[in-house]
Amino acid sequence: MNNKDLYVIYGTKPIRMIKELLNNMDLASQLNPGMKIALKPNLVLASPAHEGATTSPLIVEGIIQYLKEHNIKDISIIEGSWVGDRTSRAFKVCGYEDISRKYNIPLIDLQKDSFQEISVGDIRLKICNKALEADYLINIPVLKAHCQTLFTCALKNLKGCIPDSEKRRYHTLGLHKPIAYLSRVLKVDLNIVDALNGDLTFEEGGNPVQMDRIIIGQDPVLVDSYCSSLIGYTKEDISYLKLAEELGVGEADLSKANIHEYDTEEKNCSTFKPSRQVARLTRNVDASDACSACYGGLVHALKRLEENGSLDKIKSKILIGQGYKGQRVDGIGIGNCTSKCDNYLKGCPPSAMEIVKLLEDNI
Ligand code: SF4
Repeated sequence: MNNKDLYVIYGTKPIRMIKELLNNMDLASQLNPGMKIALKPNLVLASPAHEGATTSPLIVEGIIQYLKEHNIKDISIIEGSWVGDRTSRAFKVCGYEDISRKYNIPLIDLQKDSFQEISVGDIRLKICNKALEADYLINIPVLKAHCQTLFTCALKNLKGCIPDSEKRRYHTLGLHKPIAYLSRVLKVDLNIVDALNGDLTFEEGGNPVQMDRIIIGQDPVLVDSYCSSLIGYTKEDISYLKLAEELGVGEADLSKANIHEYDTEEKNCSTFKPSRQVARLTRNVDASDACSACYGGLVHALKRLEENGSLDKIKSKILIGQGYKGQRVDGIGIGNCTSKCDNYLKGCPPSAMEIVKLLEDNI
């Protein structure tokens, strides 16, 4: 694996998916048994993963199984929830106490950790020691939207590695600059993105959108650039992403990425029950056996169009799903299955960013 590689797997069995990806990228070749490995999920608050805010414990369990199978012994789970919640409560509610007991893995509450103050550029940042001390830091964010920064994934997840007082200060600094600078001093070795079920609008969940995939990459900027496209944003939309690229943290140009995609099974048909918000967004959509990876991208794309005032201007029906294979139908098709539509978007699945562009071009 090199910095430009992104590994993507689709499916509904997270333990099997993550182990298959880690095997395919041969993570073990980068590790040695004496390493101190820290796993940093997103447990922003005490809310189970199916609500769309927190990292699936099954992904973390799969990573631990893989590491143990490769004789790694010093593994810990580190996290500091947001100031409105206690990390200890999040560990319990999100299923991490069970993992800790089952695998004998310590849970380290960064809200109680000591920290160092480090100068970077023209600001000083406080970072928790347990995050800095890891020999190999695995960042395990959730791909989701965010009400202030629009998008949260690999770079922003590192905000869980700073003291609570610092989290408040980041808001006074406008979030984007300290998030970008933090990524210069807190080096992540691997990013494993939970894109199974992240939220449509808010960091704290409540409107999960099933997307059924896991993404791995070393470069957090490239990972975020790719993941933001999956929910309909470009790198230009996300200020901290652009700034991190300018600071030399990584590469945001997706044309430079080598994307390796795997299916563990037939792409799964969407099973999630639409919230009222999703039902409103998709009122013009005719879905027929649509995969969750495709349908989830469309839901995010429609949300972006609602935000920029374009949603109500779309008059054509939007068609999506395997049920349209080989059928000639009127409307705008999303994905390869709708290739008999006069106007359709290639991809299996296409990204939300591509869907936004197609729909905007057809207003
Ligand atoms: S194009 Fe068809 S097969 Fe591919 S993800 Fe979309 S619905 Fe599924």
